[in-house]
Amino acid sequence: MWLCDGAKKAVSSLLVTLALGAVFGCPQAIAGASEPTEKSAIAEVALTEAKRLRHLHHYDQAIAVLEKALGRQPGQYDLLLAYGRLLMKQGRYQKAIDTFLQCQMVRPKDNEPRFLAADAYLNMARLKDAELVARQVLQRSGEVRDKRMAGALLRQIASYRAMGDLTAPHYVRGDLQDYMRFKRSDFPLKVAIWVEPALRQYRGVFDKSVRSSFQRWCDASGGYLRFDMVPDQKDARIVCKLLRTVRNPDSTDGRKLGETKLDDNEGLEDSLKFSRVEVFFNLEQDPREIPAITLHEVGHALGLDHSGNPKDIMFPHSREPYADVLTARDKNSIRRLYGITNDMTARQ
Ligand SMILES: [Zn+2]
Repeated sequence: MWLCDGAKKAVSSLLVTLALGAVFGCPQAIAGASEPTEKSAIAEVALTEAKRLRHLHHYDQAIAVLEKALGRQPGQYDLLLAYGRLLMKQGRYQKAIDTFLQCQMVRPKDNEPRFLAADAYLNMARLKDAELVARQVLQRSGEVRDKRMAGALLRQIASYRAMGDLTAPHYVRGDLQDYMRFKRSDFPLKVAIWVEPALRQYRGVFDKSVRSSFQRWCDASGGYLRFDMVPDQKDARIVCKLLRTVRNPDSTDGRKLGETKLDDNEGLEDSLKFSRVEVFFNLEQDPREIPAITLHEVGHALGLDHSGNPKDIMFPHSREPYADVLTARDKNSIRRLYGITNDMTARQ
């Protein structure tokens, strides 16, 4: 998951992975010798192969390997856990939850499947269910660390709720004066792309993501918010950069995946002067994340703040499988921010 710090009078915003699996997860538990679901040679081989395929982002194949092994050894904890994680990667949240419930039945004391299930509930925007799981962990006897994580999860969910009614038609809260945005007369806006030389192999992916992101927000605005790509950064009002990051393995906060800085010329302007989108990428990351991160950051670049609903692209955390899709709330929000009403006709 990503986490993005909110952009209030929008100075900057961060997009960071939370990776609940890693943050809330425990190290792989080692099956006791007396346990009926002891890790067998079948499981070992399947897990190694699935891990290899997962690393290559071949999730379908990894799932097939685990399904085959589970057919021979149903109820094997490590297989189930790995299987559930892969289902999450594909956005098959309900099936993942069912799998994590099976894990809980095999090893009731282990909270890792509970945290993963909570993560899946969050991705489905089922905040109440995620809360229930976190409370369950708090009430059970268990490790202090697990309770801390459950507490953190509850605070996180509370922060989403604080972002307003998650079922409202849009998430542009409060006074529009509090938002920084471009003037409608500034459009078509000039946009430039820059890719760090070390990432030149991702130039094509990023280029396509940036163009597609602007096109989607433009379509959502009814054709009002149009853009022109320019080759030179100094001619652009929005610059989109793809930068390399080094992953910090010790970090418990997850990865920062993007950041957008908004500039109103130090308050001298009554509207946005310039936006700078930075998408961070490391070579271990799945390039399929880039389009969704870019779509989110371009939303900030245009002046949008965060949504507390996990289904919206402007939700501060990512959700696998990183779909770069705008919801009805996203579309309504950009229209509201720019005062575009349904009776207006798009310019050509
Ligand atoms: Zn954000």
